Amino acid sequence: DKKEKEEAKIEGAVQIAIGVKKEVDFPNWYTSVLIKADMLDYYSVSGCYILKPWSYSIWETIQEWFNAQIKELGVENSYFPMFVSSKVLEREKNHIEGFSPEVAWVTRAGNSDLEEPIAIRPTSETAMYPYYAKWIKSYRDLPLKLNQWNSVVRWEFKSPQPFLRTREFLWQEGHTAHLTKPEADTEVRQILELYRRVYEELLAVPVIPGIKSEKEKFAGGLYTTTVEGFIPTSGRGIQGATSHCLGQNFSRPEMFNIVVEDPNDPYGNGPDGGKVYVWQNSWGLSTRTIGVMVMVHGDNQGLVLPPRVASVQVVVVPCGITVKANKKEIYERCEALAAALKKEGVRVRADMREGYTPGYKFNDWEQKGVPLRLEVGPGDIAKNQTLSVRRDTGAKVPLSLDGIASTVSKLLDTIQNDMFTKARDVYMSRLKEVTRWADVVPTLDDKCVVVMPWCEEEACEDDIKERSGKSAEPQDERAPSAGAKSLAIPFDQSRWSKIEPGKTKCPACGKDAKRWTMFGRSY
Ligand code: AMP
Ligand code: ZN
Repeated sequence: DKKEKEEAKIEGAVQIAIGVKKEVDFPNWYTSVLIKADMLDYYSVSGCYILKPWSYSIWETIQEWFNAQIKELGVENSYFPMFVSSKVLEREKNHIEGFSPEVAWVTRAGNSDLEEPIAIRPTSETAMYPYYAKWIKSYRDLPLKLNQWNSVVRWEFKSPQPFLRTREFLWQEGHTAHLTKPEADTEVRQILELYRRVYEELLAVPVIPGIKSEKEKFAGGLYTTTVEGFIPTSGRGIQGATSHCLGQNFSRPEMFNIVVEDPNDPYGNGPDGGKVYVWQNSWGLSTRTIGVMVMVHGDNQGLVLPPRVASVQVVVVPCGITVKANKKEIYERCEALAAALKKEGVRVRADMREGYTPGYKFNDWEQKGVPLRLEVGPGDIAKNQTLSVRRDTGAKVPLSLDGIASTVSKLLDTIQNDMFTKARDVYMSRLKEVTRWADVVPTLDDKCVVVMPWCEEEACEDDIKERSGKSAEPQDERAPSAGAKSLAIPFDQSRWSKIEPGKTKCPACGKDAKRWTMFGRSY
């Protein structure tokens, strides 16, 4: 029944794909953009989706960039099996408490029940760390830094959203072990900075780096850092990616017992008798990135791709063909233009498809979000130029064909920067400093994120969620939650006035405030 409903919803989404406005029906706008841009298709298992080449290529670009960066930090790629025995999965109590409702189990093979059900990894801490214990025998084996590109399964019961929340998703998960806490702390922030750059430099999506509250941190970890994104149309926050310090929670003797002799305590005088339980981090970035990018940049014509991740950055379209005679010349000019751009490393395609009008082609590539269109018609040829049309702004500017490759490269950089700046300005304008409780719910209802001086107590966070859930705004049925939760405590506190210890109060409970904290409705 539930599945049928889901499928009916899907069909509905496809049928009304044309003419759904972003501001009017955001959830349907989102799915129709994904379908029309040919990024995604639905799948027969609910909550799972097919990533078609137009979106998968973005993931490949992220992979390529991120791999190069983590290899600089000494991280190596590896692969662990997707199955986890229940014994190791359940070893870390807080960890499994956080994940158990979403774990999918294999209980049968063919016709026979398995003696012991086997879990499918929701994340790989417990799958990997027994082997870390085996491999790390001396402090000389540290640091150990492994990453894997894989998929994980979390059987989420909140309604799925393509890319943002799916039951199987692609990600990278890094798992490292260090001799000291400062070393682990440093790496947590280095990785978070890479995540910030994936969002801001590749996807042109602004994010705010910060630390999660105790309530929102990774199950079983010591602390969680995050890059928090924002979807202006819905006014919701979204966790972009997370870099966790696990502390020694997984290395303790009663957990995975990952231990070395302490080179700084050769006589065993310290509290651990000359031993060090290793300091561990784990960090992950998923295909959620792609969904956030679509939601932030897309418009009523469809997808808008930032040039750095667009598999086609420029499309050349022949125009104004009236007679056979000019067709040959126009086609030749288009091919020559594409060749000149390709030679300079621009990802370009000349759309020479027969039987389609230029108007059809314009629309097609606009839906697919190609950053720049170059039109070549008889008038352009006569003036030794091409008409450029930007996808992000619609601006039309004729460009001389002399030095066209460098002009276009620069223009693509400009588009990339403009898209980021525009999105950042929107995000910043929706971050609202709030110091009175009375302003919290109206600010959220205005599709903004609240930033307030917060006491950082868990009971207060629960209370905020409860009290902010009762809003006058009718909530979208697909929206996950109406109550606000803490999104992040930004590392950069300098944006807001100084919190005076003992003086500045938490507007929610009246206790002493510690740091400015972002609260918002979220995905
Ligand atoms: P976590 O291991 O829970 O910290 O997850 C790492 C990152 O994966 C999160 O920061 C999210 O950006 C992303 N993520 C978590 N759950 C999902 C999901 N169901 N679908 C897609 N991405 C997800
Ligand atoms: Zn409080």
